[in-house]
Amino acid sequence: MHATAPLTRFIDAHPRLFVLTGAGCSTDSGIPDYRDAEGAWKRTPPVTYQAFMGEERTRRRYWARSLVGWRHFGKARPNGTHHALQRLEAQGRLELLVTQNVDGLHQRAGQRQVVDLHGRLDQVRCMGCAWRQPREAFQQELDRLNPGWSTLAAREAPDGDADLDAPHFDDFVVPPCPACGGVLKPDVVFFGENVPRERVMQAMQAMEAADAVLVVGSSLMVFSGYRFVHAAARAGKPVAAVNLGRTRADPLLDLKVEQPCAEALAFLLA
Ligand SMILES: [Zn+2]
Repeated sequence: MHATAPLTRFIDAHPRLFVLTGAGCSTDSGIPDYRDAEGAWKRTPPVTYQAFMGEERTRRRYWARSLVGWRHFGKARPNGTHHALQRLEAQGRLELLVTQNVDGLHQRAGQRQVVDLHGRLDQVRCMGCAWRQPREAFQQELDRLNPGWSTLAAREAPDGDADLDAPHFDDFVVPPCPACGGVLKPDVVFFGENVPRERVMQAMQAMEAADAVLVVGSSLMVFSGYRFVHAAARAGKPVAAVNLGRTRADPLLDLKVEQPCAEALAFLLA
């Protein structure tokens, strides 16, 4: 029997799926993830909201690394996992897809109903007023203000970050909001920051309307994603997960598929 036969049966048996995706979906697109097979940090945990908002030096370091990381992140393309999940939606089998990823790759694969739980890295917003800008334009501005930085060598890191260890982040120029002088921040939910309430409610309503939950490529270590699985299990809804390694919800799962996401979902594209 093929390893994914139980997953085929799970999907066939539940025609209205609530799908929750995480970093494991995007690793095949060349975007690294944060956690190892045990769900522990592989690297230094990401910058917190409090540090970003509280310290100018942290913001300079963040944007300098991000300027370099965007070269790669901004060019990422959807992979087989994104295409397989788009196929499920096209077949009318998805109640909603909720992603913890900030890369917009589900939408690039043609997925229509997506909640970006943690926001999108391709938008920049002001924390003091309603000013917003596409990241591509902000990238050009950062590049103009910081000549030479964007070509520095660095290894790609998760969420459009790069392992850049420049000695002089203090020389890096981050422009203030052109409308109010406020702090500019990527439109993503940082660690230590709450997911906007309406986003959580929209996702929770879809979970309640669905007849099962499918987790794809997430260790569910972050509560913002775990809460949907926890609520589904409490409501008696079946939960399946495709993930290499441990997830926080392992005791709640009806089916666990420990395979790379694209391989486990390939049957949807056959
Ligand atoms: Zn502003």
